[in-house]
Amino acid sequence: MASFPEKPEKSTASDGALPQQSGPVSKSRERVGWDDYFMTIAFQVATRSTCSRKHVGAVLVRDKMILATGYNGSLRGLDHCDDVGHLLEDGHCVRTVHAEANAIVQAARNGVRIEDACIYVTASPCFNCFKLIANAGITRIVYAEFYRDERIFEFSQAMGIELVQANVQRASVIEAP
Ligand SMILES: [Zn+2]
Ligand SMILES: [Zn+2]
Repeated sequence: MASFPEKPEKSTASDGALPQQSGPVSKSRERVGWDDYFMTIAFQVATRSTCSRKHVGAVLVRDKMILATGYNGSLRGLDHCDDVGHLLEDGHCVRTVHAEANAIVQAARNGVRIEDACIYVTASPCFNCFKLIANAGITRIVYAEFYRDERIFEFSQAMGIELVQANVQRASVIEAP
């Protein structure tokens, strides 16, 4: 016969006071916010990058749902930088399609509308990616590390795109090596 666990002991307080509450459950484990949640995923996506010069991940989100992801990698089916070396031009590796572009491309391949979406990206967009993001109708950019191109500040303001740096303290826990 199955034995049942004993009922927790009742408070022994005899003055009718309620037993001491241990506080809300959320106190012992702070629940992660949405920006941290999606940025952490972007860092995880970045680990798939195939160019060791910089591992970048991007996640497209609308209404707290992931629409598409992308990391910087070679043209579909072609050699990876990690296998055949970089393709350098003016000190930059141009072999890869950038994470933001690949996220937008993934949405296009799947027929997913990304207008009014937010993009989470582990490094701020280069100017070319910024232009893609802007014309795709993405209205919010959250980036972790600032990367290179300061024109994005001026142009995002002109376009009415919200551009914010994420607090990466938690998100960077699983940053790409
Ligand atoms: Zn490369
Ligand atoms: Zn880019």
